Order: sequence, then C-alpha cells, then structure tokens
Amino acid sequence: MSLLDIAGLDVVLGGKSLVRGLSFEIGEGELLGLVGPNGAGKSTLVKAVAQLLEYRGEIRFQGRPLNALSARERARCLAYLSQEDPVQWPISVRDLVGLGRHPYRGSWWRGAGRSGTGDLEAIESAMRLTDVWRLRERRVTELSGGERARARLARVLVVEAPLILADEPVAALDPRHQLQVMQLLRSACQSGRGVLVVLHDLTLASRFCDRLVMMDRGELIATGTPTEVLTAENLARTYGVRAVMGEHDGQGYVVPWDTSEPLRS
Ligand code: ADP
Ligand code: MG
Repeated sequence: MSLLDIAGLDVVLGGKSLVRGLSFEIGEGELLGLVGPNGAGKSTLVKAVAQLLEYRGEIRFQGRPLNALSARERARCLAYLSQEDPVQWPISVRDLVGLGRHPYRGSWWRGAGRSGTGDLEAIESAMRLTDVWRLRERRVTELSGGERARARLARVLVVEAPLILADEPVAALDPRHQLQVMQLLRSACQSGRGVLVVLHDLTLASRFCDRLVMMDRGELIATGTPTEVLTAENLARTYGVRAVMGEHDGQGYVVPWDTSEPLRS
C-alpha cells in the first residue's frame, strides 16, 4: 500500500492558482524528491500536505484522508521541516529538538514537559545523527545557518514519524553535511518510512532519490526514476539550463553548466 496518495491537488492562494491537478504517491520505504525551479509551487505543495494550507483534492495517508485525522494523530504520522526558519527565540538546541517529542507527551494537566527515558534517548540519537550533539547547550539563535538547519532537522527526525516532509533541508549545508543529511533521509526510508524532500541539487536528487516529481508553474512536468525525469529536455524546459550528465560508481550526476533558452510550451 502506498503511504501517501495525492490525487488532483489544487491550491489557490491570494486568488492565484499555485498548484494545479497534482497527483502522485509515495510508497513505504520510498525517498521521493520534488524538484523544479523557484516559484514552481514546491513549498506550497509541501505545506498543503502538512495541512498548513487549504486545498482541493485528496491527500491520503495509509488510505485515510489526512485532514480527517486528529491534530495529535497527524503530528505523530508526519513531520514537516519548513523551508523558512521560524526559530526566532533563544532556546537551546536540546530544547528545540525536544519539541519534536511533543506529540508523545501527556496533556499539560497530566505532566506535560516531563521527558521519559525513551524521549531522552530519541533526542540524543537525533542530535548525534545530525551532528549537533556537541552544540546541544548552545542557543539556536547563536548558531550558523547550517548548524541551525541541522538542529531543525534533528527536531523533525526525533518525531519518528512514518512520513517526513523536508523542504530544502540541505540548502544551507556544506558538502559533507549535505551528504550526511541525504544519507540520513535514505536510512530513514530503510525502516519503511517515506520521505518527500525538496531539492535543488540535481546530483543529490539523482543519487539518493528512488523517484522524482518535477514541477513547474504549479503543474506536474514529469515523474519517474531520476534518469527518466532528469533528461536534457526536461532540464531545458523547466530550469532553462544545459547540464553535464554522467555516471560515477554506477550513480548518475547532473551538473548544470550553461543557461539555455527555456523550452516554454
Ligand atoms: P517554490 O517552493 O517552488 O519555490 P512556492 O511554492 O514557494 O515555490 O511559491 C509558488 C508561487 O506562489 C510563487 O510564484 C510565489 O510567489 C507564490 N506564492 C507563495 N505564497 C503565496 C501567497 N501566500 N499568496 C500568493 N502567492 C504566493
Ligand atoms: Mg520553496
């Protein structure tokens, strides 16, 4: 069974149609990359899946409409990493990551805020995986952009949700941490979870994702394996670039090299 089914999704914001008729699914254990140029509607789509925007069409999680789940159920089944960094208050990295355990804690009148041993283990493990363990006492407002991005990712991983939505999680990271984060998302899938990840780095998309969805101007342009989606024609049509493409160690790479006239239909 697919983990997430999106059928005929439409999102209209401020009178503008930002996502039009999008349909695709994410299977259990699948790492699905969402690619497309700036303004294509990727973040809008991800926010709709996270139930942060109104939409028309169906979004089903394990066969059930996502908007029919209670807020608490939803908070346990999907974890969302936004593209914008909303962390403006000076809490420690450890406390930020701890917020990700909130869906498992009792209501405040039953002792909210108390962390069980399982919580503490999950929090430490997520901080170690994202390489922020040594930063755990630091205030998030005093970290570099990349360090903060990793702390935010730890907060998402600690939810241990079956579905992870990550909007440009590697945009601020150095090459080593980009690879680490992609490996992390890959290994999250090995336990049967599904991941939807927005990426601009087409080599990372090609190497790490099982399948890609390419969007432009609110519409689906192509879906399939990275090789099927990242064709010279699709890259020219959506991004207006020519790319150097090849294979290394049996994996594809795509390096945008030159601008080209976008093939607008
Ligand atoms: P992407 O993530 O692919 O770069 P977005 O989903 O953020 O694109 O935005 C898609 C388009 O929707 C852009 O043209 C953007 O300007 C527009 N947009 C985003 N938010 C709003 C909004 N609240 N009201 C109107 N237009 C918006
Ligand atoms: Mg975006």
